[in-house]
Amino acid sequence: MMAYEPEKIEWRGKIRSIQPRTTVWRYRLDNRTHYHNGYNVFFDGEADGVVTQFSVAISEKQQQKHKFRIGDHVQGSAWTKMYEVSDYADFYRAGSMKILNRAELTVCKPPPYLIEPPEMAVYEMRGARMLSATSYKGKCFQCAWATMSAVEIEYNWGITKKYRFESFCYGPKSCKLYKMGKPRAVPYKDSGSVYDDGWMDDLCTERRGFDD
Ligand code: SF4
Repeated sequence: MMAYEPEKIEWRGKIRSIQPRTTVWRYRLDNRTHYHNGYNVFFDGEADGVVTQFSVAISEKQQQKHKFRIGDHVQGSAWTKMYEVSDYADFYRAGSMKILNRAELTVCKPPPYLIEPPEMAVYEMRGARMLSATSYKGKCFQCAWATMSAVEIEYNWGITKKYRFESFCYGPKSCKLYKMGKPRAVPYKDSGSVYDDGWMDDLCTERRGFDD
């Protein structure tokens, strides 16, 4: 994996979404393990002097301290990433964060679930289902149950890995906006691909019922 030299930048912007920051490890159809590493906060604003949309990875403790919510105006510092594919957010190691303008608390009928994002243990306990990329980018984007995971595929055990991003949903199975999308190919060196077509979702979310 190609490594870049990280650089410190300053940013400020208005929060568009707060999602869990997740990575997934896949090995054929034998294993799909989800890791929960904090939150990705998505902004409209300015990063390193450029007006843009960008995302910043923050820790669970930082979210517990600031209680960021959609619509807050925030400023801070962060670092550019070392590896293009290891994580979905644009910037990491966020610091010196300050809320410039607090958004009003709004109550909207879900879905999407515009709630305070829960702690990592809740995502861990709920488990995730594959979510179509179109849904993720569309109506699900602001939902606290949506995530874009950095996925590592064990392609040749212990020797070669493949990387990509995949969208998932931790929300209720009954959510009317839910769409799985196409089955996802999981390649392995000489054996072609097997397809994750939904039964691993059932396995990952077996601890909760249809409406949980
Ligand atoms: S499908 Fe999932 S991510 Fe989308 S609105 Fe429903 S619960 Fe949220």
